[in-house]
Amino acid sequence: MHPNEFRAEAHRLVDWMADYLGSVGSYPVVPSMLPGAVRNALPASAPNAAEPMAAITRDFEQIILPGMTHWGHPGFFAYFPTGSTPVSLLAEMLTTTLGAQCMSWQTSPAATELEQVMMEWLRQMVGLPDSFTGVIQDTASTATLVALITARDRLTTPVAQATVYASAEAHSSVLKGARLAGFSEAQVRLVPVDDAYALRPALLAELLAADVAAGLTPAAIVATVGTTASTGLDPLHPIADLAEEYGTWLHVDAAYAGSAAILPELRPILAGVERADSFLMNPHKWLAVHFDCTAYFVRDVAALHRSFSATPEYLRTTHDPEVVNYRDWGIQLGRRFRALKLWFAIRHHGVEGLQAMLRGHIAMAGAFAKRLSETAGWELMAPVPLGLVCFRHRPDGMADGAALDDHNRALLARVNASGRVFLTHASLSGRFAIRLALGHVATTQAAVDEAWTLLQGAVRSAP
Ligand SMILES: *Cc1c(COP(=O)(O)O)cnc(C)c1O
Repeated sequence: MHPNEFRAEAHRLVDWMADYLGSVGSYPVVPSMLPGAVRNALPASAPNAAEPMAAITRDFEQIILPGMTHWGHPGFFAYFPTGSTPVSLLAEMLTTTLGAQCMSWQTSPAATELEQVMMEWLRQMVGLPDSFTGVIQDTASTATLVALITARDRLTTPVAQATVYASAEAHSSVLKGARLAGFSEAQVRLVPVDDAYALRPALLAELLAADVAAGLTPAAIVATVGTTASTGLDPLHPIADLAEEYGTWLHVDAAYAGSAAILPELRPILAGVERADSFLMNPHKWLAVHFDCTAYFVRDVAALHRSFSATPEYLRTTHDPEVVNYRDWGIQLGRRFRALKLWFAIRHHGVEGLQAMLRGHIAMAGAFAKRLSETAGWELMAPVPLGLVCFRHRPDGMADGAALDDHNRALLARVNASGRVFLTHASLSGRFAIRLALGHVATTQAAVDEAWTLLQGAVRSAP
């Protein structure tokens, strides 16, 4: 494609993008389609002859777009939203235009050095001490795997005799990461939680003592600040006490909630993180940048390098002794230039703008929770410390059990079928809970109000 043709096509697509961002709220949040519909609309084999851009973009609009879930829709309250913003999108366009593969300082000095500075900015923004050094990983799952591999490699006993601890509410990436790092599921202890879905340190202490008495070596404890189901907040100080007592690696997974620590009033949720060995947060979840971007902070960079550095002759450069080569800080060799979108987003919004966004989400979640708990028939299923509300509707006289779960499952399905909002669910203490999660910059009070109206309507139309 000639640069002039690129210019014309790009202008057309940028117009399309701006229209899309302005009208995303008019699409159904989730497409209603059966599995296979998109696949069946596509040719089974690649075209032999070149096709014009007009045909490709037409098929994008006619075949692909109707099959997309719109994560930037104001009515998107599912899972944890991603933080896509127009300014981060612009940075992603530049990242892709440059097309650099940023595995080493040499392969793009600015990418490495901007990443160093962005990790410093973020470290200060969330109040981590300067004993931590940051690196961008693709996702929280990767960062947790990296932490568990580092913890494993620090062991002086065989991995088969080592154990890993996390709460029963920890993200599935902890179990998966432990498995990938060589710990069998039988070596992972899931610690029970309290009424607020936070790990119970006394029970962790009992498990650690029993394992050590049985001749096992505790390798790692993963604490979660902001569990995925309900934003439960594990207490870090008592967990750090135990990590220190047993000499285990302490990893803190704050994928969603970590961003909240840029608010001085919420800093306390991370109290004790300074005693952890590693910490992760996902700016792509709640800090206004596109997926993917996970900030991973470690105290012992040398331990990270012992596990992850690999320098074949063809990658050696004269500057190696003076520079950071991020290929030695994680699993893959090749790396995207992810720091650029952080730089754009933090500068465009300012820390104050990001704080205002977070406070807005937290206030909307709080107001939604208050209204819901004051309305007959509705109940909160977990505390609401941040931007996530877990709740259910309970018809008069219906006790806990399958019928109540089915009632709420049906309610959720009816609300989502409207195409106006998308909420997902979780299981809390074995009970079905509907989740309303805030995190996208496009979220509005009007959309939250609409979700509430639809929920109440769904109750009235219950069979
Ligand atoms: C979302 C989430 C993850 C996984 O995030 P990815 O970046 O998609 O891997 C891990 N931990 C917690 C607590 C999460 O909420």
